[in-house]
Amino acid sequence: MRDLVQLTTSISEYGCSIEGSGDFSVSDHKQLIQNNEPDFGILFDVDGVLARGSTPLSAAVQAARLLQDSQGNLKVPVAFVTNACNRSHDKARQIQDWLNIKVTPDMVIHAPTPARMLKEFHTKHVLVIGQEHRKEIAEDLGFVNTCTIEDVQEAYPLLDMVNHENRKAVANGTFLDDPNFPRIEAILLIGEPIVWETHLQLLIDLLLTEGKPSSPPESMSKVKQLPVIACNMDLVFMHQACMPRFGHGAFLVCLEALYKKITGHELEYTALIGKPCEITYRYAEHVINDVAKMIGIKRPIVKLYFIGDNPNVDIVGANLYDRYLKEVWQNRDNGNFTTNSLPKSRLIPNESDLYEQTVRSMKSLLVGTGVYKQDTKKSTAEDAEVYHGHRDITNEPELTKPSQFVPDVLHGIRHIFEVENYCYLNT
Ligand SMILES: [Mg+2]
Repeated sequence: MRDLVQLTTSISEYGCSIEGSGDFSVSDHKQLIQNNEPDFGILFDVDGVLARGSTPLSAAVQAARLLQDSQGNLKVPVAFVTNACNRSHDKARQIQDWLNIKVTPDMVIHAPTPARMLKEFHTKHVLVIGQEHRKEIAEDLGFVNTCTIEDVQEAYPLLDMVNHENRKAVANGTFLDDPNFPRIEAILLIGEPIVWETHLQLLIDLLLTEGKPSSPPESMSKVKQLPVIACNMDLVFMHQACMPRFGHGAFLVCLEALYKKITGHELEYTALIGKPCEITYRYAEHVINDVAKMIGIKRPIVKLYFIGDNPNVDIVGANLYDRYLKEVWQNRDNGNFTTNSLPKSRLIPNESDLYEQTVRSMKSLLVGTGVYKQDTKKSTAEDAEVYHGHRDITNEPELTKPSQFVPDVLHGIRHIFEVENYCYLNT
């Protein structure tokens, strides 16, 4: 009887329903849990959903309890998707401390993480742009032959003349190019650098010379462009200041504008990765499958939920991925396993190391604990007329609409459990 009372309490707490009636035995209880294995996964944005800065939100701490059994084991596959650019093990440790659940580095997807799928570039000589730990981050992703802007400056000391100190140094000494410095074969833009003017000058130099700026291009407009991979297109982000700050997307705008002004051509991206691009959500699907296997779920995961606080990034991305999934499955039902209509820079490479695609739809939940505030709906709607998204992502305001608005992540989890008719019973 005690089990029955506990069970009934748990069921009403999570808003689930059980068909049939009569006494409910312990074996029924176990059967229910078995049959109740989730076939869905949940992806969380981090800042504004689980925490503000480095302070966890109490709703997130409570939500995390609903995802675990009494031994603290995860019962629903989850992963964390952020456009920040840290090392995954640092972020995993931080989320684990916040939420008191076991989080492995593989469960944290940063903006550059899906570059693991871009294997054809892993052995190439790649210039990595960003700030601290940029080389280590690239190496963690599989890039084995990387260099930094400082290496390029040293190899070509006459290039950086936007820095007047360099001009003086060059005037007073003998500086020669290093003829042995290998050609740059690709550029990986992990995050916004410091000293933008130096980066912009040297990146344009490399783009104009196919990665070997020791002699000028014969024609500015006919050079074959180096592959460019850009992670995180966010134009601005909220920090402690009273208004938004420049993000990596602002640096990309500068690079694109200079390249177009100088060559007359659009800068082409080999890959755009990070939210809201589809490749990030596809990679997140793979991670969810991995977590599902790890926690013993045998059913295929067919639905994903994304809980985010930024309509223009999290929600647009979830809706774009849902659209992509619909097209993929429609094509497959018609016997077509290869094509989709994504633009070139957002194509998802065929990656045999990923778990097979099983997810058929993605739903999005928008929380009110971060960027989005319901009471500022009007001004948000007016501001939305100015499009801050990336050039290669068409402005479609309807994509900013979530499947559901919830006040916070705890309400989000409860909503998902209700929709899925998912009873989680502490065992
Ligand atoms: Mg956020």
